[in-house]
Amino acid sequence: MVSISVPAQPRSAESMAFSVVLDLIEGIGRVPTGRTVEVRLGEGDRDAALDIVSAWCASSGNEIVSIEGLTVTVLHGRSPDSLAGLDPGQLPGSRVWVYTNFDCNLACDYCCVRSSPKAERRAIGVDRLKQIAGEAAAAGVGELILTGGEPFLLNDIDVLVNSCTEKLPTTLLTNGMLFRGARLERLRRMDRSRVILQISVDSATPAVHDSHRGSGSWAKAIAGIRIAHEEGFRVKVAATLPADQMHELEPFHDFLDTIGIAREDQVIRALAHRGVADSGIELTVDSLIPEVTITADGVYWHPVAADHDDQFVTRDIFPLADAIAEITRRFVAHRRAADSIAEWFPCA
Ligand code: SF4
Repeated sequence: MVSISVPAQPRSAESMAFSVVLDLIEGIGRVPTGRTVEVRLGEGDRDAALDIVSAWCASSGNEIVSIEGLTVTVLHGRSPDSLAGLDPGQLPGSRVWVYTNFDCNLACDYCCVRSSPKAERRAIGVDRLKQIAGEAAAAGVGELILTGGEPFLLNDIDVLVNSCTEKLPTTLLTNGMLFRGARLERLRRMDRSRVILQISVDSATPAVHDSHRGSGSWAKAIAGIRIAHEEGFRVKVAATLPADQMHELEPFHDFLDTIGIAREDQVIRALAHRGVADSGIELTVDSLIPEVTITADGVYWHPVAADHDDQFVTRDIFPLADAIAEITRRFVAHRRAADSIAEWFPCA
């Protein structure tokens, strides 16, 4: 990346923008397509100057990829090709995941984020979640997905969920085992028209599920699905299967049909080699389409690795739009790098 600084002397927006555009023309000319140039605006009317720089980028076929304070990063060329082929729902920021907490009443032997009763809570908290929901809605995010840990361990889970559903449709992941007493009352205070519950069930009979999640957990999860249905909630089921059992799907789908889970709400995924799992498919930033994921510790590339440094993106959750832009920028860079390798190898 080429970095250019414009002297911070007072001048009109037009003068500043003209100077920055000249520097951009020079900088872009020095880097190949796909590389970025960084320019720093001087003091003055920043917004008006940015308008002029944006207009120049639009007319010249280049693209602003980030704006941080007075620093503007411009891509030589445009990035849409790098996002081509993705469904709209796969574009970074189309939905945002939030880890409400990391402690859990279970200690599954393949938990991707190492949750357990002993795990530190690391709660996101109502204030941060309200801000996330508000900024997500403003940024065009279509859905929030809350996960943990086990969210129903939180005494304010109803408040957390309602702060999300006020802004966006929300899916709440749970093991479904805690719907009784005060926790059932909290479930009842959630907006059934805006919340989908996603409950984990790994097999059609207790043996496999309980072998990974603990004795008696299958029966409690199935009971949780029944309670959620009785309370009027739409329920999805998410199953984690070892890669060598992915061929045995049809009997499992048939079982989920019998307990009232619609086919489009049956999510079956392979085991990931993350967290405490000792096997599974390897998922890295190079192989994963990102899904913006927020925890109390910052922003991560994907929910499956929200406890792993290799997928940590930034400590700055806010502004959320900047976090989404940063993940998009990195994703585009990864795809461009992969493309350039793919073009280069056949010639070697
Ligand atoms: S996989 Fe889910 S239910 Fe199991 S320990 Fe992790 S967070 Fe808890």
